[in-house]
Amino acid sequence: MVQTAIPSTTSGAATPGWPHRHLLDVDVLTVDEVVRCLDLAAEMRALRAAGERPDWLAGEVVGLAFAEPSTRTRVSFEIAAAALGAQVVELPIEASSVTKGESLADTLRTMELTGVGTIVLRHASSGAPYLATRSCGSRIMNAGDGTHAHPTQALLDALTLRDALGELSGRTVAIVGDIGHSRVARSNLHLLTALGASVRLCGPPDWTGGFRTWRGVSVHHRLEDALDGVDAVMALRVQLERRAGGGVPSLREYGRRWGLTEDRMALARPGAPLLHPGPTNEGVELTASLAASSRSLIGSQVENGVAVRMAVLSLLAA
Ligand code: ASP
Repeated sequence: MVQTAIPSTTSGAATPGWPHRHLLDVDVLTVDEVVRCLDLAAEMRALRAAGERPDWLAGEVVGLAFAEPSTRTRVSFEIAAAALGAQVVELPIEASSVTKGESLADTLRTMELTGVGTIVLRHASSGAPYLATRSCGSRIMNAGDGTHAHPTQALLDALTLRDALGELSGRTVAIVGDIGHSRVARSNLHLLTALGASVRLCGPPDWTGGFRTWRGVSVHHRLEDALDGVDAVMALRVQLERRAGGGVPSLREYGRRWGLTEDRMALARPGAPLLHPGPTNEGVELTASLAASSRSLIGSQVENGVAVRMAVLSLLAA
């Protein structure tokens, strides 16, 4: 795997030669670009730990446009942009002119005209960030669109897994839960398989349809089959806001059959880490004691989220 040189942190410049103006999903990134992004994120993490502040985005304005609730993603983008010296402005889309009839495109164009160079967009509609790239000249960073993609989540998950397991090539990762409605699962499928990992998807039949033809992916309905000997497990939240009921009789029934517990995790490779993008529904997709156990990397995922977002903001602005 050829790695592109990472810029000197003392050069005062952002990273030259990044070919993508936007980050809409990870499927357009080459393996080298993914590795470059993860390496830069690790470098950002070390700089932050050392108390250094690379001012690579000084003079830049980053706009946060979150039209869906978010805690981790919004806050970590804000911290990441500020840590790079950018000015951060927040566009409360629900409260903005969109509710007065202005289209999303008009609102984003207005942001561009006021000098926002990068717009971090979260939207309930799959594809909204793609529309945004055609509506305004700002760089667009997809912070989660509907059920489609969540590229920075997949990148921070890959960094967390790489820290725990080393190279991901040849590893097997189980993703358990509401796969069909999960933008996290979809971006992770692209990224993990591109990096050479195999993925076992697991959940109720109605929640796992349509994935059997993906290369490197197998679909399971029994948790025991999915967890057997895997190197890592990722639990997903049941996307209640995106499903009109159906798939399982109740959340209680889901938890009984597919909920992760410390006992069930014992089926995985000894010490196999557990990930979850958050927010967690303890007692449904996993137990509180598993979330708090030594297997859980949920806290590391949140910490890595800042570093990954610093990396991608720098790369896009290069
Ligand atoms: N925070 C992640 C997302 O925005 C996962 C979730 O909400 O379940 O997709």
